Amino acid sequence: MSLRPTLDFLLYQWLGAESLNQRERFSDHSRETFDAVFDTCERIAREKYAPFNRLVDTQEPHFDGEKVILPQATHDAHKAYAGSGMLSAAQDYDEGGMQLPYTIEAAANCFFAMASVSMGSSLLTKGNANLLLVHGTEAQKQVFARNEFSGRFSGTMCLSEPQAGSSLSDITTRAVPDGEDFEADALGPRYRVKGNKMWISAGEHELTENIIHLVLAKIPGPDGKLIPGTRGISLFIVPKWLVNVENPHPDPLPGGEGENGSVKVTLGARNDVALAGLNHKLGWRGTTNTLLNFGEGKYPVDGQAGAVGYLVGKPHEGLRCMFHMMNEARIGVGTAAVMLGMAGYYASLDYAKNRPQGRPMGPGGKDAAQPQIRIIEHADVKRMLLAQKAYCEGALALELYCARLVDEQHTAAAEAADDARLLLEVLTPIAKSWPSEWCLEANSLAIQIHGGYGYTRDFPVEQYWRDNRLNMIHEGTHGIQATDLLGRKVLMEDGKGLQLLAARINATTARAGQVPELATHAKALDQALQQVVATTQAAWATGNPQDALANAVPYMQGFGHMVLAWIWLDVALAALQVDATKSIAVTAGKLGAVRYFYHYELPKIDAWLQVVANRDPTCAELPEDAF
Ligand SMILES: Cc1cc2nc3c(=O)[nH]c(=O)nc-3n(C[C@H](O)[C@H](O)[C@H](O)COP(=O)(O)OP(=O)(O)OC[C@H]3O[C@@H](n4cnc5c(N)ncnc54)[C@H](O)[C@@H]3O)c2cc1C
Repeated sequence: MSLRPTLDFLLYQWLGAESLNQRERFSDHSRETFDAVFDTCERIAREKYAPFNRLVDTQEPHFDGEKVILPQATHDAHKAYAGSGMLSAAQDYDEGGMQLPYTIEAAANCFFAMASVSMGSSLLTKGNANLLLVHGTEAQKQVFARNEFSGRFSGTMCLSEPQAGSSLSDITTRAVPDGEDFEADALGPRYRVKGNKMWISAGEHELTENIIHLVLAKIPGPDGKLIPGTRGISLFIVPKWLVNVENPHPDPLPGGEGENGSVKVTLGARNDVALAGLNHKLGWRGTTNTLLNFGEGKYPVDGQAGAVGYLVGKPHEGLRCMFHMMNEARIGVGTAAVMLGMAGYYASLDYAKNRPQGRPMGPGGKDAAQPQIRIIEHADVKRMLLAQKAYCEGALALELYCARLVDEQHTAAAEAADDARLLLEVLTPIAKSWPSEWCLEANSLAIQIHGGYGYTRDFPVEQYWRDNRLNMIHEGTHGIQATDLLGRKVLMEDGKGLQLLAARINATTARAGQVPELATHAKALDQALQQVVATTQAAWATGNPQDALANAVPYMQGFGHMVLAWIWLDVALAALQVDATKSIAVTAGKLGAVRYFYHYELPKIDAWLQVVANRDPTCAELPEDAF
């Protein structure tokens, strides 16, 4: 099975991605240039990633006392990815990028996520560099971001601490000014950072010359104490190796001397960032995951303990800077979940078409003299395949829709751009969480279709499930995303985001209501929307967050299923435009999936939303001793 026809249909026939080249920023592009990017990414993923997915699972990263060792295949894959220009694909030409729409970049990265999610497509490096482009000084952009986009350096995000994961307000990593002249450093106000950061992905390796950590830390107040809450948090660039910069800013911008047509950056002394240990994970083993000690004195700088860090943005605005890149990071996580689901779907579809087992139900079915049928002929196996298709293709459509909103936000006219921003706020928790839950369920069904074989390492589906299990945990757990949705996103700006979503859903149901094959689905979706809106109001009827948010996850499940029902109905409208004689996979396939979603999935929202609307206290009020 190839992903390409599904991507092509969703991008070109449903989303109208080609029309993006009417925007000035993308005017050099066309379907041909988009397709050329897909061809390259598909090839690299096929040659450098897919064949090594099992290898990176079994040869976990290990520390030899000096260095973290990764398989050679991971080095080769990283080199090929960086060489393709994908690290800076969406960046300005002036930054060495291709000015590709984000929609196309996100779609192209799907090939890598499906081939080997943990060998990766450098999401963190891109996110890190993107953040610096927005919040960094010119020197920080030139020295750090540019070298990340070129693949010379890589990046991390250091938020979590052993005692502070969901609750970032409780971080204790501290940053104090480094000397009297701390504000005079060309790379930004210089601090010494001390503390422990847990779970840091790609925190140590030899894939790149340098690793640029973006670290959240607190600058103590005048009394020397850490300011409580998120207010006190600031953001710092803490490179693994300090850098020497020739030709520093502000002089040479593009076209100047040195690396990447700008300043010349060489590595200096080792900074005081030490690997305290590698985490040995359930899945996603091709990426190192680390506990890092900042400033413990293992690598003193100028004879002094404390990791040197350069402030990004203003003091105490660290979380605001970090949140800048959250939407795209969360679309990235959601897309990874989708592609793992899709990989399992394709593997189980192939297996189901080839595995003979059992005989048909009904007359003659017990006759052992008859040949066996292939398991894809059993209705229950078809159910499991159709569920996977509905979850994964639907979620892929949602991710691409959100990616398109990112492009709208950045390139559409003012009002449409602002609508896109707000709609994205409401949809992002769903884009992150829905695939994390349901494409994981797809992976479970893929194992089920393989029977006992699916439970062994002889087939790839158990790895897909293990890899996917991460996605409900990182980038904000399921519970945290649900609280964000019901506690903030549907309420913000007087509920305008939810209203915008409702308007788009209504536009789809109005069109689908005119189409005989889809009219009953349109009615069901209208009802589901009303139910979600009424449930939102009922949840907040007492105005007490404890009542409203006690069932935030069932709310997110109901909301998410409604969103996916909308996406599927809209996709079905596009599928009906396709000539059925040319592509049964598009027409019968998409219509089958939409029917499955409306008959088997959408009715589930009643149970989820009911406990929310009733502000059901069953879970919240059960005393601890009763467990
Ligand atoms: C493989 C992996 C890679 C990661 N990569 C990075 C990285 O690169 N950088 C980084 O900074 N972090 C990273 N993380 C950390 C990740 O973001 C955290 O694990 C996550 O935020 C949860 O924090 P925690 O593990 O401390 O769990 P906790 O916050 O202790 O949560 C445990 C459980 O309690 C629930 N819970 C906690 N608080 C609440 C609440 N207020 N309301 C309702 N439920 C709540 C949670 O939903 C969860 O189910 C990574 C984690 C893993 C496993």
